[in-house]
Amino acid sequence: MVKNSLAGYERVVEFHGHSCIGSALGYRVALKAMEWLKANRSEDEEIVCIVENNSCAVDAIQAITGCTFGKGNLIFRDIGKRGYTFYNRNTGAGTRILENFRAKEMPGQSELRKAMFSGTATNRQKEEYKEMSKATINDILSAPDEEIIEMKPASVTLPERARLHETIVCSACGEKVMETRTVKTESGVYCADCVDRPVCN
Ligand SMILES: [Zn+2]
Ligand SMILES: [Zn+2]
Repeated sequence: MVKNSLAGYERVVEFHGHSCIGSALGYRVALKAMEWLKANRSEDEEIVCIVENNSCAVDAIQAITGCTFGKGNLIFRDIGKRGYTFYNRNTGAGTRILENFRAKEMPGQSELRKAMFSGTATNRQKEEYKEMSKATINDILSAPDEEIIEMKPASVTLPERARLHETIVCSACGEKVMETRTVKTESGVYCADCVDRPVCN
């Protein structure tokens, strides 16, 4: 079990490439998920996560829970919310974790943010902004669960296990393509790139 520890967060920073507010929030969600699922890192799909955004937070989820895009047990539901649904395939149990953190507004913060995002920030302002972010990240890493996390019942159905599909060679480009992504016409079987392309022989 991953504890809320610097070592755990360091794994997130290493995977994600930098420390930021989004990945710190994702880390707290991932810790809560692990606790709830009473499971260790997913070795082979026993945990499935459905994420509702593709922010920095999702990298923390991948680093800590072992649900990854490549393994097919991380599913992106593009609805722009801060919700993360976890299922344990072994038990069928699922939950949706909402991240509801509200950062304390620090004096001068909104002007600073405006300067940063309009590209007019001075070096000093950039430094100040970095310090402010660091303080917020520390708050996130030490805040009690109830300031960040809201648990809700899982509302989407558990998707089927990823299956292996046959590989087909596209009649036009000759590249290999997963069978379920091909289009069959009278003249052949095509990949998505070639199906609408005019053929000139
Ligand atoms: Zn980030
Ligand atoms: Zn093709």
